[in-house]
Amino acid sequence: MKRVVIVGGGITGLAVAHALEKSAEACRVHLFEATPRLGGNIRTVWHSGFTIDGGPDSWVATKPHATRLARAVGLGDELIGTRPESRKVHILWQRRLHPMPEGLVLGIPTEVGPLAKSDLLPLDAKLRALFEPLVPRKDLTGPSDESIASFVTRRLGAEFSERLVSPLLGGIFAGDAEALSVRACVPQLVEAEREYGSLVLAMRAQKARRDREREAAGAKDGETPSVFTSLKRGMGDLVTHVAHRLRDADVATEVAVTGASALPPGDPRGRFRVETSRGAHIECDHLVVTTPAHAAARVLRGVSDDIADELASFAYSSTATVFLAYRKFDVKHDLEGTGFLVPASEGRPLLACTFVSSKWEHRAPSGQVLLRVFFGGARGADVLDADDDALVRLAREELLDVLGIERKPSFTRVFRFDLASPQPGIGHVSKMERLRALLAERPGLYVGGNGYLGTGIPDAIKQGEEIADAVMASARR
Ligand SMILES: Cc1cc2nc3c(=O)[nH]c(=O)nc-3n(C[C@H](O)[C@H](O)[C@H](O)COP(=O)(O)OP(=O)(O)OC[C@H]3O[C@@H](n4cnc5c(N)ncnc54)[C@H](O)[C@@H]3O)c2cc1C
Repeated sequence: MKRVVIVGGGITGLAVAHALEKSAEACRVHLFEATPRLGGNIRTVWHSGFTIDGGPDSWVATKPHATRLARAVGLGDELIGTRPESRKVHILWQRRLHPMPEGLVLGIPTEVGPLAKSDLLPLDAKLRALFEPLVPRKDLTGPSDESIASFVTRRLGAEFSERLVSPLLGGIFAGDAEALSVRACVPQLVEAEREYGSLVLAMRAQKARRDREREAAGAKDGETPSVFTSLKRGMGDLVTHVAHRLRDADVATEVAVTGASALPPGDPRGRFRVETSRGAHIECDHLVVTTPAHAAARVLRGVSDDIADELASFAYSSTATVFLAYRKFDVKHDLEGTGFLVPASEGRPLLACTFVSSKWEHRAPSGQVLLRVFFGGARGADVLDADDDALVRLAREELLDVLGIERKPSFTRVFRFDLASPQPGIGHVSKMERLRALLAERPGLYVGGNGYLGTGIPDAIKQGEEIADAVMASARR
């Protein structure tokens, strides 16, 4: 029987362990999580009738892996979409909230009418965006890469990039659109340019295809599916349900993996010796590291300096989310929509704000509202030096200025995520190729998680399941 050690009990590590349950007769699985809690970034707490997702609040519905996992662990009836009546996203521009034009796909316009009516862009910027199909394509293959901001500016114009796409796509990564790689972060856009020569035409075709598929599946006219999926009792349910299904794995929390080495020493084809913070060690045939890359670098230094150096070069940003609950009565603003994003040029400390109780049902008791303010990210790291009370004060100042909320919140809660948001910069794709080549020379060693190929929960689960498949195939051999 092969022994498998999984380092990290976030959703990636859990997905690996869950998928390996199928081959319990061939593999003995040990999962180590450094903190007292499984789930990593996924943190749900319940307070006075509120459900608070401190980190991720949902996943992208069109990526199937998370929905499939949720169904597999018995959460099929718990899946929810955003409230249909409250799906508008706003952009904060010159201290005013402007609705994003309807019909955007990944920030790219697919309809002329809503764009023409939007008060977020001047006429020349709208015309520039509509001429996008005439912009010549650029070859982004081999080592060539471009930032999201530069790519979108080239295709749709500077104002469109600055006011719409950069806050949207940069926000997903808590990153700076001027530094994030378009190839790594939104490969769909690069593919769209390559295949259609136009993002507008490609997104229009994609939208039409989806509409046809939904129609064929029996969706009613005018019914638009939610872009995001969550769980009635919060994202933490995914973690607890997956963890409950791990019947054969040996799961240890509050045990960090402090290092690993090749066994016999120096043998690149051999097994692994894994050291833990409890002063124990364990030998294994497969070592799966699902921590952020900086932590993976520390774990794997004793296995390969080259792999550790490569991993150490992956950048991450830190964020904090501040939750503020109010009596509905105390908030004059209608809180219509899912919230607002803040372009970098506004020069404000907050990155975004979610109207949690408008976006989702089941998050706040009746007569109460819940808001989430995001701080930090690649361009706002300094703000995070403030202690929790100061962050709450700052969140209140921002909400007073933007939404006019003067009253004291009934309660607040701060969550911090240190070096948790990957920042795939220009050249990330080449970096991944080098890492893959190094890992190919080290059979039995796998690295996965949100820092490598896609940042969201479905991407993390997909990678976890692919690693489990590779482990099973090798164990059977
Ligand atoms: C604030 C925030 C909001 C987000 N919102 C969304 C969203 O709405 N939708 C979405 O799809 N994605 C979102 N994401 C991204 C999503 O959280 C990640 O894709 C996903 O949770 C990553 O899971 P993971 O298991 O790869 O990593 P993590 O969740 O980082 O888990 C890694 C685990 O490894 C453990 N660990 C580290 N070092 C060691 C060690 N030496 N030994 C043992 N254990 C160790 C850590 O304690 C941690 O539990 C968000 C991220 C953040 C930070």
